[in-house]
Amino acid sequence: MKGLVSVAVPLPFFKPLTYLVPDALAARVAVGSRVVVPVRGRREMGIVVGNGDSPGAAAVVSPKPIAEAPDAQPVLTTSLIDVCRWIAAYYVAPLGVVLRTALPAALTGAESPEPSVKTRRVATLTTELPTLLERDRTFARAKKQRELFELIESLGGSAPVELLVERMSFSPTVLKGLEERGLVAIGEEVVARDPFASRASAADPRHAPTLAQQQAIDALGAGKPGGVFLLHGVTGSGKTLVYLDFLRTVVNDRGRTAIVLVPEIALTPQTVSRFRAVFGNKVAVLHSALSDGERYDAWLALKRGDKRIAVGARSAIFAPLENLGAIVVDEEHETSYKQGEAPRYHAREVAMVRARAQGAVVVLGSATPSLESWSNARSGKYRLLSLPDRVGGGRLPSVRVVDMRVPKDQKISPHATTSESLARLVLSEELETALRARLERREQSILLLNRRGYASFVQCAQCGEVDVCPNCSITLTYHRAPERLICHYCQHAEAPRQRCQRCGGSVLKQRGLGTQQVERILAERMPSSRIARMDVDTTSGKWAHADILDRVARGDVDVLLGTQMIAKGLDFPNVTLVGVVDADVGINLPDFRASERCFQLLSQVAGRAGRGPKGGEVFIQTRVPGHHAVVCAVAHDYDRFVNKELEGRSDPPYPPAIRLANVVFSGTREEDTARLATETADRLRALLERKGDPDITIVGPSKCPIERIKNRWRWHFMLKSRNAAQLTRVARYIAERIPVPSKGQLRIVVDRDPVSLL
Ligand code: ADP
Ligand code: ZN
Repeated sequence: MKGLVSVAVPLPFFKPLTYLVPDALAARVAVGSRVVVPVRGRREMGIVVGNGDSPGAAAVVSPKPIAEAPDAQPVLTTSLIDVCRWIAAYYVAPLGVVLRTALPAALTGAESPEPSVKTRRVATLTTELPTLLERDRTFARAKKQRELFELIESLGGSAPVELLVERMSFSPTVLKGLEERGLVAIGEEVVARDPFASRASAADPRHAPTLAQQQAIDALGAGKPGGVFLLHGVTGSGKTLVYLDFLRTVVNDRGRTAIVLVPEIALTPQTVSRFRAVFGNKVAVLHSALSDGERYDAWLALKRGDKRIAVGARSAIFAPLENLGAIVVDEEHETSYKQGEAPRYHAREVAMVRARAQGAVVVLGSATPSLESWSNARSGKYRLLSLPDRVGGGRLPSVRVVDMRVPKDQKISPHATTSESLARLVLSEELETALRARLERREQSILLLNRRGYASFVQCAQCGEVDVCPNCSITLTYHRAPERLICHYCQHAEAPRQRCQRCGGSVLKQRGLGTQQVERILAERMPSSRIARMDVDTTSGKWAHADILDRVARGDVDVLLGTQMIAKGLDFPNVTLVGVVDADVGINLPDFRASERCFQLLSQVAGRAGRGPKGGEVFIQTRVPGHHAVVCAVAHDYDRFVNKELEGRSDPPYPPAIRLANVVFSGTREEDTARLATETADRLRALLERKGDPDITIVGPSKCPIERIKNRWRWHFMLKSRNAAQLTRVARYIAERIPVPSKGQLRIVVDRDPVSLL
């Protein structure tokens, strides 16, 4: 491009900046290419998004020249840029910030625009020796050289040096001999760093689809470009097989490409390995634990078309695939699809926009669809496909509620020791008996407690004082081994105190249950059981999740205990028992989605039981056995839950009855934060009144439920509307027009379609 171009940089500007293209760089500057540009005395990596005179570009008097243009080819296609424009507009984020999110980190640094690549040395034959006579003559006194020559020949004429020397044990001098005689040339070749290649992947059993599966596969195959399907299949109904068969059509038969989104790669190794088993090296796995270099290699392989299916979490929705035929969003109800920082996009929504732009079909799969997707299916916006039964005649496990409210003296035998009575508060007799039976029968169990650490807080027995994080309005969680009080919001950690800070009392009680404590109680009561604990604290290593799950698969674990991490996707036929230690965690959070979360978690974890011929049972311990989330999960009754929940969200209205944006104000001084929130709300109300806009409501302002995080005070108000475009206009007005005073580090965040209001 020549002349002026507009460039989006990852800074809080809502308009692209205008730069001059130096003649020397003109050939390398195109829409979608990266450019290094000077901004406010710094170098920034931006993306060219259009001509300098395209609408929306800021007019400048004397534009500065672009400093560098590192790309021979644009890194982003215009269709991906359009998707990013939609994200920027809908989620009210600067385009440059969105574009940065769409690229691998290795491409976003202004200081080292050339990503590193890994190369290896390759030996290639330069001569053919077609006749035996020639061969005998050439290698008359060089038997080893002949062996090596013929090995390379059998490997297709070229082979990595490492393979020949290290794995096949040829001496480097033999290779050197061939090279010196001009029979072999040694060169460098770029290799993709793919740590998944060395992890074993299961064989695909390739079952014949059931009737329901076949109907779903056929419907998907006939899907119109941009069409959206909601695949509602109970746990164990074989949704993965539907995805695989559909993608065989899309990728193998039609020669197109596909994106498969999973909530978190590390937690779904089984799903990932099934895709690898079917599509082999056509699959790029975008694991969150990849290094920047490995991620870049995967990105490049997709961009070049060497790989045709991207499997990954949220950000895989930006995979650089052309000719996209399908996007699968597995477990579409999962909140991890929403990004918690700018741009606050939801990968499921981006999937629809991208599919429309590239003519792909979208499949949203879940046993417990989000209420949003469910109502879209009901209104006919999405097409509903159902897998109502488990495959192979398997039945859903029977689920029983254990009411933990019963006074403890009635539940515990009079001969019980103190430690036994304590243990009973954690593990009911019913659940413990069931666990013991599994141990005897050498079957496996899964125990869910969605709270890590040992105790959720420490309280003074005398005055009731609770240890709170110095930076957040959150109690500190007590962890054992290493012994620490830790804030789960800001990671602040301190040594536990010996005395109460307020009254000096010396009796400090640990209250609220965490996974570490359950692990200890289990180990004490069932010393012969082999327990694996899976939560944030045990899974920091790159393969930690996979290693724990491998042990479960091999049968080296009797009880898999963990937080919500263990509720997703796992398919272990020998798990015949699932116990929920405390179903009430989170059920009373001041968030309109609290019940939905709880129902989804209980249904998902219950679905891990009885996936094999031995069947399964589930125990749910709760103090609110009448709560509709619990009742409906016990009955496997999704429809009833949804109807009840939709009713509850009609008045006052919450999504999906209306569209919602949460506007959060934060700052280091509470008064300033409250004032900014109040003034902004007043100003918006006055504006809306003046314009006579009835279809938008402002609820608040008020303190956020968690009023301080990381030393910042937090206030918020909500915008509610039936009209998405209207909400966009108001959100944009806030982002662009409300002046934020520089004192007190004040900040305004607009969170569109929030998944959490805390
Ligand atoms: P979901 O994701 O719906 O919970 P999965 O896709 O994990 O279910 O499938 C559950 C199990 O059933 C897997 O072990 C899978 O191999 C098996 N399965 C799926 N479809 C069939 C089928 N048509 N016949 C036999 N087994 C099947
Ligand atoms: Zn904190």
